[in-house]
Amino acid sequence: MADIMLLPKSLAELIAAGEVVERPASVIKELVENSIDAGADKISVEIQHGGISYMRVTDNGCGIEHSQVPTAFMRHATSKIKSQEDLFKIATLGFRGEALASISAVARVELMTKTKNSEFGTRYAIEGGTETDYAEAGCPNGTTIIVRDLFYNTPARMKFLKKDISESAAVAAVIDAIALSHPEISIRFIKDSKTVIATNGDGKLKSAIYSVLGREYSSGLISADSTTSGIRVSGMICKPVYCRPTRSGQYFFLNNRFVRSGTMAKALDQAYKNTVMVGKFPSCVLNVEIPFDRVDVNVHPAKTEVRFSDDKAVFEAVYYAVKNALAQGDTRPELELKKRPDTSATRMTTAEFRQMFDTTASKPEPRFEPALTTKPTFEPVKTTTAPVFEPVSAKKTAAADFSKPLISNETVHINLGEPKKEEAPKSVPKSEPTISQNPPPAKTTAFEQMLNAFSDTAERYETATFIDDTEIEFRYIGEAFKTYLLVQYKGSIWFIDKHAAHERILYNKLKAEGVTEVQTLLSPVAVTLSRNEYAAVCENLELLKTSGFEV
Ligand code: ADP
Ligand code: MG
Repeated sequence: MADIMLLPKSLAELIAAGEVVERPASVIKELVENSIDAGADKISVEIQHGGISYMRVTDNGCGIEHSQVPTAFMRHATSKIKSQEDLFKIATLGFRGEALASISAVARVELMTKTKNSEFGTRYAIEGGTETDYAEAGCPNGTTIIVRDLFYNTPARMKFLKKDISESAAVAAVIDAIALSHPEISIRFIKDSKTVIATNGDGKLKSAIYSVLGREYSSGLISADSTTSGIRVSGMICKPVYCRPTRSGQYFFLNNRFVRSGTMAKALDQAYKNTVMVGKFPSCVLNVEIPFDRVDVNVHPAKTEVRFSDDKAVFEAVYYAVKNALAQGDTRPELELKKRPDTSATRMTTAEFRQMFDTTASKPEPRFEPALTTKPTFEPVKTTTAPVFEPVSAKKTAAADFSKPLISNETVHINLGEPKKEEAPKSVPKSEPTISQNPPPAKTTAFEQMLNAFSDTAERYETATFIDDTEIEFRYIGEAFKTYLLVQYKGSIWFIDKHAAHERILYNKLKAEGVTEVQTLLSPVAVTLSRNEYAAVCENLELLKTSGFEV
């Protein structure tokens, strides 16, 4: 084996830098977090070419003393951690003392800074870790850092960068998160000389949401704020109807720092359960305030993934905050159900109804006395034994099969009473008093009326209750509002939007067979996309073209 040697300092720096600086977005994140730590209430971020060639962050924070500037660029140089204790109580955003060192190891960095109490500011320049300028200079209070030519000295890293548009989108996502978690700071983001985000810093979350996520997002929001076992969860969540097809509208913050947390996302899902459709996701901007010693943020170098010492408590805090907010923000009109007049005396039970048609069971003959001229009335049948509910066998089902002729000679035994001889139609022999043989038209009508009244509900009740129909795949029940197909499927009922289903069928077909014919639109259709969607479209223009879309 070769000799073991210490890595040259410059090489070690590059390796360490790789952990912190992955792409322009990670640089911007570190720099803006430094500005926030410096107490700034105005931060401006500018990038060009996705940040790869140029990034600038300007703040009106405390600035750095002239003598301290070179130290700030040294690894493990920080003004934020003094003891081991501090590590576990990370009140400030930056804490590794590595950002400036890492960034300056892989780019050309220029700094201008001035504290309020000094007469002059400082101009400092450092390239690939080597100082190139350090002088007094006239500049406003606060700090400006310019980062040029990221990865100019590490071409291998450069190769991993995506197209400008994707890098810009990633930077924008960082700015979004920071702006949303700091409504009290006015943040401006300029991309290729165009301002794309500007928040007014009025301290109101709703204003920040409006500026960052747009009007559509901010229109359907409900406030949330509650504390469960010492953990406060506050912010905004969307009304269930505003749920979206992706999780892209979910922003979680931990003590005002953007985080990704499976626990929080799960709690959110759980709280919305049964109010959103499958495949739709709630949006939220929620800040979770938790004592610093109950969380470990020092997990991922980019510090967005967090661990909690008490996962369950965090889950519950988020769950109850969302649940409460949903309950309070529920603006659905209340449906008032009028109490029905008590008709129990004139209703048959399903068991009685079944019995009427059931030839297999020995039974007391149901009494049925239709008022032939008016609506049929029914007297409850007094059975001697309690009705037994069992799965209906094939034979029994047939007895209640309404698609068959309703009145069949051998199955129906209904005593309609003695028809008056003079009224009886000629075709009915006098010796046959029941309708089962050849019913008089008037009586059939009454009987049919009764069946019509019952068949609808009874049939479904029978099917739902008595038949073990887990083997039936789909059962089409009907249609509502000329729009939704009602389909029973295993243990659930589906409302299928006909129109959407048709689109889906066409879509599947297109996916399987490819596009054979393309028709150009007379006037183009404008589509509003989120930043990430926009980046995705721009990167996949070829694919879209082969799918028949000219963009
Ligand atoms: P960390 O933020 O972890 O302390 P950094 O390398 O990001 O490490 O910054 C080093 C030090 O430089 C900070 O602790 C801070 O004192 C100073 N500093 C960096 N950026 C700014 C800024 N924008 N305004 C004032 N001080 C800053
Ligand atoms: Mg920092």
